[in-house]
Amino acid sequence: MARGAAPRPARILTEPGTACLGADVNTNAVREQLLRRREELRQRAHDASADLRHESDPLSADFAEQVTQRENDDVLGAISDSARVELEQVEQALRRLAAGRYGICVVCGEEIEPERLVAVPYADRCYACAERAASRATR
Ligand SMILES: [Zn+2]
Repeated sequence: MARGAAPRPARILTEPGTACLGADVNTNAVREQLLRRREELRQRAHDASADLRHESDPLSADFAEQVTQRENDDVLGAISDSARVELEQVEQALRRLAAGRYGICVVCGEEIEPERLVAVPYADRCYACAERAASRATR
């Protein structure tokens, strides 16, 4: 009675990741958003590092060797600090999402304000804790 049944099961629209969030944060949507952002940042790093390597070609073999040794660093070194930091934060947010700890402040353990997560999907601390950290980091 299989009449052209779909070869793979359609994506089921239950949201297993939302259990830990009483708030109206759709973790599936957040995850998609984070993954897209990660791809974007990685692509940017990749493009930038490709440019770098291109430029380094005519330089001495010594230099090229160093570049090869530090290739991984260069991929990230090619993008701005802020992009690198953001990539790191996106990665961590994805990890927290996978661990079911997304939306929980890493400092005080309270739920992060939903509107804050909307504005900053990779926020890892609540508004109050972020403020405190920001004022501490100011130099
Ligand atoms: Zn907090």
